[in-house]
Amino acid sequence: MSIYVSPQDELHTEYQGVALNCPHCQTMTHLTATAVPRFEDLNRRRPKHAGIVFRCDACGEPVFLKFAVKSFGPQRVELAAHFIEIERAREQFPITYLPAGAQDLFKEALACYSAGCWNAFGSMSRRTAQSLFRELGERGKLDMFDTLQEIRSIAELDEASFSVLRAVLFGSDSDPWPNQPALGAESAGILLEVMRDLLYQTFVRKARLKQAMTFRRFVAPAQTVSAAG
Ligand SMILES: [Zn+2]
Repeated sequence: MSIYVSPQDELHTEYQGVALNCPHCQTMTHLTATAVPRFEDLNRRRPKHAGIVFRCDACGEPVFLKFAVKSFGPQRVELAAHFIEIERAREQFPITYLPAGAQDLFKEALACYSAGCWNAFGSMSRRTAQSLFRELGERGKLDMFDTLQEIRSIAELDEASFSVLRAVLFGSDSDPWPNQPALGAESAGILLEVMRDLLYQTFVRKARLKQAMTFRRFVAPAQTVSAAG
């Protein structure tokens, strides 16, 4: 994708333009540039990055993005296609379904992810898992490992991705150094989706099903008992 600032101080984007998960309304949406640095200033000062203010097409709130500058020229100041989000959407999860001890830990894990701190997210995910294993016992830990295997085959995860997940969630702090693999944006993203699914399968699904069953029993009409004999 080519993205550049024209001599008329306008931002040009090819194909779909700029889209992201809005930090305000949490919608996957397109953005419209509302404040673009001046072409002349960029060419004169030659900064490494250009900051642009956009407006979310869904909710109208401002979103600030930073782009690395690729080149300066008389016709265009070319920007890198990848941008840095200054404010990221908060990751959501129905946290109250988790056992009490794990709630705060996973809440912080999600905050780390939203802040783009991938390794902090990995560490807090491991602490969340440790708290859950303690709560569920050895049997529950084995069940969670089975669920992880299931997710692996459904999502068709390769061996490298899976071994990172296994090491983060099922590794021990007493393993030889480094006892946790280093995470980047991609592996943290995979870990997030897997954590969500793992916790959903283990806690949320069961609790919601139980609630629904209780509700059905409560609203079911009283059965008429046929008088026999
Ligand atoms: Zn929005």
